[in-house]
Amino acid sequence: MAFGDSPTYINLYMFDNKDAYMEFFKANCDGYVPGNDQSGTGSINFAVFSEFCSDGSSRGVNDLADRRGCVLHEYGHALCSTIYGDDYFRVVPGWLNEGLADLIARPLFGPEFDKYPSNVAQESKLYVPPSYDVLCGQFYGKGAMPYVLAKLMVKEIFGNSKLSQIGRVLVIAKEKHGDFDSAIAEVMKVNPREVYDRIVRTYWSKSVNLESHIFQMKFNR
Ligand SMILES: [Zn+2]
Repeated sequence: MAFGDSPTYINLYMFDNKDAYMEFFKANCDGYVPGNDQSGTGSINFAVFSEFCSDGSSRGVNDLADRRGCVLHEYGHALCSTIYGDDYFRVVPGWLNEGLADLIARPLFGPEFDKYPSNVAQESKLYVPPSYDVLCGQFYGKGAMPYVLAKLMVKEIFGNSKLSQIGRVLVIAKEKHGDFDSAIAEVMKVNPREVYDRIVRTYWSKSVNLESHIFQMKFNR
């Protein structure tokens, strides 16, 4: 799998032993320790996956389809960071990082992918939307809401476009020193911030107190 005509080389390492997985992970990720429920990752030229998370729990053992999708998701991270090169994870907006990995895993996550709008509709009844800046810079550790928004944003922006277009966004973002917003605007002809605004308006329009929600969210953090 690649983003264009030239192949991208990714080694995929799969572990059925938690300790070996942890050891490999740390050795190849600058000593970074995977989160409790993290069963894999992908970076430059490699992806790693284990049937065990770092807390010893087993992920999706009874759901092979989901597990295959998760492997392809980590592979997606590996593809993106290999194309971009050094610094990818430091500069890529969180929503784009996770959304693209899912988009690449779409062949195996297909039906789930199409459920994103209804997922956002559901979540919008429970949570206020994270701001665009939070989606970019403080994405992780904030529960499921950023993920569902990220996936819907990527679905709206990249929808049925070819993988080669994702590759162009990554290459141009690199040329622009990590300015992903303007790379997306150039290749996809949309402004991600406007896509975010539109989604929030669409799914949170019924929330009469949205202004005060956002106000509270800003000052509660
Ligand atoms: Zn991921």
